[in-house]
Amino acid sequence: MPIFNKLKNYIGLVPNPVTERTKAAHARTHGASVHISVCPYCAVGCSQLVYTKDSKIIDIEGNYESPINGGTLCPKGAATFNLVHNPYRITTVKYRAPYSDHWEDKSLDWAMERIAQLTKQTRDAYFEEIDQNDQRVNRTLAIGHLGGATLDNEENYLIKKLFTGGLGIVAVENQARI
Ligand code: SF4
Repeated sequence: MPIFNKLKNYIGLVPNPVTERTKAAHARTHGASVHISVCPYCAVGCSQLVYTKDSKIIDIEGNYESPINGGTLCPKGAATFNLVHNPYRITTVKYRAPYSDHWEDKSLDWAMERIAQLTKQTRDAYFEEIDQNDQRVNRTLAIGHLGGATLDNEENYLIKKLFTGGLGIVAVENQARI
């Protein structure tokens, strides 16, 4: 088989087509720690894999072992990574003082302090221990809380515990209900 031997010799002379750079290439999640979580956006409850390196989230993907989503995420869930890393995130709040005709930018610390003070004042003013039927209720109907879909499980747990059990707020609602 002279042709075959010729061809074999020829192939043997061809340098390895896989470069060192190609051999060293790997997925961006290579070497990352992976944590199982739940998409915060809706009640479907798709499972997610959260990849971290040096305590920073580097990627979020669908969990292929989940019987709910089998590795997939809808476009909204697939964009969860941008909740954490987003250069367009707004880092101040808009505040319009009573009787003012314009909005001011305020820091989040300022907003948190103001909300805390107003919550305390309102609860002190409207807290009911006993209702008109002489029933113990320990509640306030003067404050409500509406959560957003980007609140995660742990935040919702703390909100429920603090606002209902702790402060006696009855009207606590959330979009996602996970
Ligand atoms: S928003 Fe999309 S990815 Fe997230 S739980 Fe709902 S269906 Fe799943």
